[in-house]
Amino acid sequence: MPQIPVIVIGAGPAGSVLAGLLAQRGVETLLLDKATFPREKICGDYLSPGTVRLLGQLDLLDLVRSAGARRLRGMTVTSPDGTTFTAEFPSTATNNGASPFALSIPRAILDSLLLKWARRLGVRCLEGFRVTDLIGANGRICGVTGIGPTGSETYRGQIVVGADGRDSVVARRLDLYRPHPTLRRMALVAYYEGISELTDHGLISVGDRSYCILNPVGERLINASIVVDQGIVQGRKGQLDDLFDGALQAFPLALSALHDTGRRGPIRCLGPLAFRSGHSAKAGVLLIGDAAGFYDPFTGEGVGHALYSARLAAHTIGSALDEDDSGLTGTRLAQFDRQQRKALKSRERLGAALQAIIRRPLAANAVARLLRRHQPLADLLLGVIGDLLPPHALFSPRTLLNVLYRE
Ligand SMILES: Cc1cc2nc3c(=O)[nH]c(=O)nc-3n(C[C@H](O)[C@H](O)[C@H](O)COP(=O)(O)OP(=O)(O)OC[C@H]3O[C@@H](n4cnc5c(N)ncnc54)[C@H](O)[C@@H]3O)c2cc1C
Repeated sequence: MPQIPVIVIGAGPAGSVLAGLLAQRGVETLLLDKATFPREKICGDYLSPGTVRLLGQLDLLDLVRSAGARRLRGMTVTSPDGTTFTAEFPSTATNNGASPFALSIPRAILDSLLLKWARRLGVRCLEGFRVTDLIGANGRICGVTGIGPTGSETYRGQIVVGADGRDSVVARRLDLYRPHPTLRRMALVAYYEGISELTDHGLISVGDRSYCILNPVGERLINASIVVDQGIVQGRKGQLDDLFDGALQAFPLALSALHDTGRRGPIRCLGPLAFRSGHSAKAGVLLIGDAAGFYDPFTGEGVGHALYSARLAAHTIGSALDEDDSGLTGTRLAQFDRQQRKALKSRERLGAALQAIIRRPLAANAVARLLRRHQPLADLLLGVIGDLLPPHALFSPRTLLNVLYRE
C-alpha cells in the first residue's frame, strides 16, 4: 500500500485547517473523520475576537462571515448576587484602533465550511471512518487502522496528526491522555429559538460553582450553555431536560433573556471537560487542537487554539518535508511541543485564575462590583479573555495607569 505523506485524524477546525494549509503548500493529506458532515458539536458557537483575528490572518474571515456569522461587540456579565455590567472588546487592543468584534456561528455550519474549503484545495476526506488504533514500526507511528463504510481498513503515512478532539483516540493510544486531577466539570448545552433582547452581546451569568453563557447565533437562535460540577449530573443523564431546567433557575437574567423563546432540539451533555496530554508530539505524530488538551469553555477560545495549533503544525510539517526530514526529527518535534504547550499553559493559567474567582460567590460578587465601577478595566479584562491582549496586560502598571487615567 503506498504511503500518504500526512494522515490527519479528525475534520474539526484543527484538522480541516491543517489539511487545507498543507494542501496550499502542495502536501498531500488524507483527512479521516468518524462523523458525516454537517455534524453537530457541543460548543457555545462563539468565536472570540482573537479567533476572528486568526481567521483573518488565515484568509478565512470573509468565508465565515459570508456564512451568516453574527457579530458581537461584547458581553454582559452578572455575578451570583445580581451585580451586572457590560464590557466591550477594547479598541486599544487593535493596531488601527478599529473596534474588535467576536462572531457566533453554529458549529455544524462552521465545521462544514472549513472542510469544504480544505476539499476545494484538493484535500481528500473520508467521512464515516472511525480510527481505532495506530500502527507503529521502528519506534515510530506510521499509520492508522479503523472502520469505515466498507469495513476495516489500514492507511500508512509518513506523519500522523491527531486532531480528533477532547476524547482523542490518538492521545489515548500513545498513553498521553491525562484526566485533570481536580477540575471535574460537565456541560449542558441547548438551543432556544425566538426573539431575545440579546442582539450584539452575549450574556455570562456566574452562579454558585456553576455558570451559564447565552450567545445569540444567527437570526433567531440562542445557544445556552450551562457548566456545573460533575456531581450534579452523575446518575441523572436520563433526566437532562429536568436537570437543565433546574440549573437554569439559578440564573434569573438568562431566564429573562430566554422568556420569549422556545427550546429547539435536545439538551446535549458532555464531560468531564478538562484533561491534559503528557506531550503533544512523539516520533511520527503530532497532536493538535483539543486532542492536545482542554481546560474549560469559560473563555471561549477553543476554536482559536485549534486554528493556532493547525498553523503551527502546518509550518512544522511543511518545513520538515521541504528539508527532506520526513520523519520529523527530535529537535523539530520538541520545538512544536514546546510552542504548543506554552500556548496551552497560558490558556490554562488564565482559566485557573478565572475559576478561582467564579467558583467563590463572594469573590465573584466583589470582582463584579469592581468592574462595574471601572468600565475600562472591565473592557481590558474582556480583551484578555477574548485573546486580544496577553494576560500580563492586566498587571502592567502602564496599562493600569492608562485605564485609570482615562476614567
Ligand atoms: C460545552 C463547550 C462549549 C464550548 N464553547 C466554545 C466556544 O464558544 N468557543 C470556542 O472557541 N470553543 C468552545 N469550546 C471548545 C471547542 O469546541 C473546541 O476547542 C474545538 O471544537 C476544538 O476543535 P478540534 O478541531 O480540536 O476538535 P473537534 O472540533 O472536537 O473535532 C474533532 C473531530 O474528530 C473526529 N473524531 C474524533 N474521534 C475520532 C476517531 N476515532 N476517528 C475519526 N475521527 C474522529 C470528530 O468526529 C470531530 O469531527 C467549547 C467546548 C465545550 C465542551
